[in-house]
Amino acid sequence: MSSPEPDAPPDALTGHPRQAGAPPDAADGSFLDRLSSDLPDLRVLTDPDETEAYRHDETPYLHPGRPLGVCFPTSTGQVQAIVRLAADHRVPLVPRGAGSGLSGGAIAVEGGLTLVMTGMDAILEIDAENLCAVVQPGVINAELGRAAGEHGLFYAPDPASYEWCTIGGNLAENSGGLRCVKYGVTRDAVLGLEVVLADGSVIRTGGKNVKDVLGYDLTHLFVGSEGTLGVITEATLRLLPMPSARLTLLCFFGTVREAGQAVATMTRDGLVPATLELLDAFTIRAVDAALHLGLDADAGAMLMVESDAGGTAAEAELELAARAAGACGATSIVRSADPAEADWLREARRRAHWSLEQAGVARMDDVGVPRRRVPEMLAAIERVAADQGMRIGVFGHAGDGNLHPTYVMDRDDPAAEARIDAARAAIYAAALELGGTVSGEHGTGVAKRGYLEAQRGGDAVRVMRAVKAALDPLGILNPGKVL
Ligand SMILES: Cc1cc2nc3c(=O)[nH]c(=O)nc-3n(C[C@H](O)[C@H](O)[C@H](O)COP(=O)(O)OP(=O)(O)OC[C@H]3O[C@@H](n4cnc5c(N)ncnc54)[C@H](O)[C@@H]3O)c2cc1C
Repeated sequence: MSSPEPDAPPDALTGHPRQAGAPPDAADGSFLDRLSSDLPDLRVLTDPDETEAYRHDETPYLHPGRPLGVCFPTSTGQVQAIVRLAADHRVPLVPRGAGSGLSGGAIAVEGGLTLVMTGMDAILEIDAENLCAVVQPGVINAELGRAAGEHGLFYAPDPASYEWCTIGGNLAENSGGLRCVKYGVTRDAVLGLEVVLADGSVIRTGGKNVKDVLGYDLTHLFVGSEGTLGVITEATLRLLPMPSARLTLLCFFGTVREAGQAVATMTRDGLVPATLELLDAFTIRAVDAALHLGLDADAGAMLMVESDAGGTAAEAELELAARAAGACGATSIVRSADPAEADWLREARRRAHWSLEQAGVARMDDVGVPRRRVPEMLAAIERVAADQGMRIGVFGHAGDGNLHPTYVMDRDDPAAEARIDAARAAIYAAALELGGTVSGEHGTGVAKRGYLEAQRGGDAVRVMRAVKAALDPLGILNPGKVL
């Protein structure tokens, strides 16, 4: 599969295609004048030195446009007014949460206005009787988890960036995390949304009803839409009773393929643990060097298996996991000594990408395959690393079949980008060959839009374009992203 050159400046980002007949006044300041006169309380940055921090997300290799400005709405009413004004002036809008995205969804569009939603960060309600929370989009994921915990409740989706990323970003990316193997991804935790549409109208797509099937399921149309169909201004999210404290098992293997085989075996045996994460040898060593945890630095791979089933059920789950690991050649299997140690190990896994960054320029990728095919995907990544003569660390949510091959290049390697592109293309081809996906949880954004048709097919992309045209006929919402 040939690479669609993700590093080339995307047209819509660096030169927004204005609609024919559109008022050409955005750049001359009249849009910004109207913004400040209509919304005097809205904080707006226009100085390029100040807007620079909001141009990128966690994809420094992409080329954002230069925005007209960056604003910080604090209410749905403000978002509505901004969208209406932007529609009148044909100014592109880029919704943005914490900017932790890994596919370029929140990067700035040329001549556009970025809406930083982090000021809308109220947890409006924890409704313990209905097991749900009502939140604004700027709430940090981990903050919601802590607030739910005070009521003995639990918000399940937990991206590794959970201390940083927002619920709005999670919804817009349909993010996954370490607990998703048992509890599902963000999609599975959403009951309803409030969304400002491209014409400034506001809709509510659901609410506190657990069962509610009237009409089309608009809630899940907006989940994963990456800011291209509407701006999410409120969400009703499903909470669960707090599970039991977790028991943690570490299984070390001589090779990453044996670890992959153990994942496939555990799945086949019906194990649904709270967490089933994989780290390969390179990642184990990087994490250990950075955090000094005393992990087995000679191991070829490690699986972290957690059970929150409680009591004898947890013991039984970990016993099943240990048996599968042993049958697949585990060289050692150890239980964490206490909950504090287990917390540390989980934190170490969350810092896998950061640890690999200490070894060079690290670019995290994201592929998924049906779980039985995890060993083949791991083998394919090993082959690509050997063929390209490059270091690729692998970690990820192996229990979901979701792996993060991470290309680690020397900081001064002039051929780094070209080699990463070649590796990406080969890894995506392998994932598709195995019936997988080129994006398990990081979205499409700019980085993967060139692969959309190859995976989904032309007819499916035509339907996506029709949905986009119906909801955003002027093309002002996050143009150049996804499609
Ligand atoms: C170290 C690290 C670890 C990570 N681990 C994981 C992981 O385990 N699982 C995972 O799935 N992802 C992970 N990510 C990726 C990222 O954190 C998630 O995609 C996250 O959900 C993005 O949230 P954000 O608030 O930073 O959104 P941003 O990056 O700001 O935006 C992401 C997208 O959401 C849109 N958006 C934001 N807010 C709104 C809104 N209110 N309405 C409409 N659209 C909106 C933006 O336009 C953009 O398209 C990781 C990233 C890093 C850097």
